[in-house]
Amino acid sequence: MSENKIMLSENELPKAWYNIQADMPNLPKPALNSATRQLAGPEDLSPIFPMGLIEQEVTSERWVEIPEEVLEIYRLWRPAPLCRARRLEKALDTPAKIFYKYEGVSPAGSHKLNTAVPQAYYNQKEGIKRLATETGAGQWGVALSQACNFFDLECMVYMVKVSYLQKPYRRTQMQIFGSDVIASPSEQTDSGRKILQEDPDSLGSLGIAISEAVEDAAGRDDTNYALGSVLNHVILHQTVIGLEAKEQMAKVDEYPDVVIACCGGGSNFSGIAFPFAYDIIVKGAKVNLLAVEPTACPTLTRGHLGYDYGDVAGFTPLLWMYTLGKDFMPPGIHAGGLRYHGESPLVSQLVHDGIVKARAYRQTDIFKSAEIFARCEGIVPAPESSHAIHGAIEEAVAAKEAGEARTILFNLSGHGLLDLPSYETYIDGKLIDYPLSEDSLKNSIEKLPKV
Ligand SMILES: *Cc1c(COP(=O)(O)O)cnc(C)c1O
Repeated sequence: MSENKIMLSENELPKAWYNIQADMPNLPKPALNSATRQLAGPEDLSPIFPMGLIEQEVTSERWVEIPEEVLEIYRLWRPAPLCRARRLEKALDTPAKIFYKYEGVSPAGSHKLNTAVPQAYYNQKEGIKRLATETGAGQWGVALSQACNFFDLECMVYMVKVSYLQKPYRRTQMQIFGSDVIASPSEQTDSGRKILQEDPDSLGSLGIAISEAVEDAAGRDDTNYALGSVLNHVILHQTVIGLEAKEQMAKVDEYPDVVIACCGGGSNFSGIAFPFAYDIIVKGAKVNLLAVEPTACPTLTRGHLGYDYGDVAGFTPLLWMYTLGKDFMPPGIHAGGLRYHGESPLVSQLVHDGIVKARAYRQTDIFKSAEIFARCEGIVPAPESSHAIHGAIEEAVAAKEAGEARTILFNLSGHGLLDLPSYETYIDGKLIDYPLSEDSLKNSIEKLPKV
C-alpha cells in the first residue's frame, strides 16, 4: 500500500513559477485604462504596484524564476504535503482515489502566503515602506501581514465589515504581525465615506474594500497596493501548488482525472490547475479542471463575460472577466473569500474556451461535506475550501454510481480553525441559503460599463 502523505524535500521545491500566458490558445482581452478606455500600460499601474510585479503581469515567458529571498521564506512550510484521503474514500465506499494538496500548513493557514511573500519582496526591493490592502474573510490580510513583517514593511488592512464581525480573531492575528486593521466601509477614505452615507449599515464587500485600499495607496508615495487574487502575477505565484502536486502524484505513479478547487478570484484554483492546464494545452492530456463557486456569488456559472472594474468606486483598470457587476452585493455567506463580483481574466478566458468547467454549490451542502471530511481526515477545512471538498465528494459518488475508477485531486486551500463561528451557525441549524433571482443579477449586469 502506498503512503498516505506524499512529501517532497526542500530541495525539490520548484525553482520557477509557471506562466500560463505563454501557452493559452487565446489570451483574455487586455486591461483598459478606466478613464480613457485605451490599453492600460505600465504607467497606469506604477502608482500602486512595483515594476517587478507589473512585468510579471504581462510577461509571455513560460517560466519565471523564484528569487532566492522568496524561496528562503517558502521553505518555512513548503513543499506542502499531498495527502490521500483514504478514510474519506472508505466512508463514501467509492472506487475513486481522492488526493488533496494541503495548503493549510502555511503559517497563515491558507495558500495566500504563496503570493504575499513575493509581493512584499518586490515592493521592499523597490523602496516601498508600506502596503495597503483589503481582506474578505481575513486570510489575505493575515498572509500579507506576515509577509510585510518578514520584509519590514508597514501594513494597512481594510477588512470587509461582515468578516470583521464574524471573524474577530483574524484581526488579532494580523495585529500580532504589526498591521493596522479597520472595518470597511470606513470613515478613513472618500470611497468608504460615500458608501456609509448611502447605507450606514453596509456589510461591506471586497469591491468596496479594494476601493479604499487603492485610494489609500494612490494617495501616498511611500505606499503601494497589494491584491490577494485575480491578477496575473498573483496567479503566477500560486502555481507552486500545482507544480508540487504534479511531482508528488508522479512519485506514486498517479495522474488525476479531475482537478478541483474553489474559486473566489481564482488564485488557488489556478495555482493547482494551471500546471495541469499546461499538460492539456501543450501535451494533449485528458484531465478535467473544475472550478467551484457558491450559488450566492455565481460569477462563472451565471455572470457575464465582459469588461468591468475590479472595485466598486471604479479606480482599477477595466478587466476582461466574468463578472456579476461591480455593484453586486453578495449575501453575507460564510465563505467570505468567495464573495467577489469578478474573476481572474485568465480563468475567465479558460472557462470561455472550455478548458475549465465551473459548478456552483449551496453553503448548506458544503458545510455538510466539510463535516464529513473533518470526521474522516481530522482537519477542519475553511468554508471556502469546503466547496472543493463538496466537488470531490460529488465526483467520488459519481464514480461509485458509474462503477468506474477515477483519480480525484483537490486543493484544500486552508484550514477553518478561525472560522469556528461559522461552524457554530451550522451546528446550531441556523445556516441558510440565499437564492439569487435572475432579476437582481440582470439589474447588476445591465450596469456594466459599455466598452
Ligand atoms: C481567499 C481564499 C480563497 C479564495 O480565493 P481564490 O483567489 O479564489 O483562491 C479560497 N480559500 C481560502 C482558504 C482563502 O483564504
